[in-house]
Amino acid sequence: MRILIVEDEPTLRTQLAEALGAAGYAVDVADNGVDAHYMGDTEPYDAVVLDLGLPQMDGITVLRKWRAAGRGIPVLILTARDGWHEKVAGIDAGADDYLTKPFHMEELLARLRALIRRAGGHASPELVCGPLTLDTRNSRATVAGQMLTLTSHEYRVLAYLMHHRDEVVSRGSLVEHIYAQDFDRDSNTVEVFIARLRKKLPPGLIETVRGLGYRLSSPS
Ligand code: CA
Repeated sequence: MRILIVEDEPTLRTQLAEALGAAGYAVDVADNGVDAHYMGDTEPYDAVVLDLGLPQMDGITVLRKWRAAGRGIPVLILTARDGWHEKVAGIDAGADDYLTKPFHMEELLARLRALIRRAGGHASPELVCGPLTLDTRNSRATVAGQMLTLTSHEYRVLAYLMHHRDEVVSRGSLVEHIYAQDFDRDSNTVEVFIARLRKKLPPGLIETVRGLGYRLSSPS
């Protein structure tokens, strides 16, 4: 899962990037509305954390432009204290949720998980596929109750496949959702991650769909 953080305040931006990175997300950051708008318009983020008071283009305008262009990406807005009118404007502009500054990072992470899972049509924070369970609250995967030891990239691949289980996910799409923008991307490494995951998972869980990509589904 890949998140765009838009925040012009450097300390908060760094804290957000570190917390989301530690929670297993690939993270891109923007410090102004113009860059944010362009990035959200051209990259397939799974969610956006959007501050509203931004240089160059304010957050409400960024959000309106995305929605006008039909981009339905889940957006959590950050509003100033006492900014109830900002919340109203943000929600009317198409925000999915909001958080008032200052906030607890745990709450932001919980709201983000909820947004991402609702966007994927999942009701529970625990994603289940046969014997495999992925708890998005603590980034843990278990098979029949046994915890899997995963590298951060293996976790990202598995989390993306779990959020899209029973769907065919292309290699290109995996690359776009597991790496941040400035990362040196190599789609061959996706095959390596899949091969490593297969060794850790029960056989048959990750299927190769020739010419199309991969599908995670419960072997019936
Ligand atoms: Ca700001």
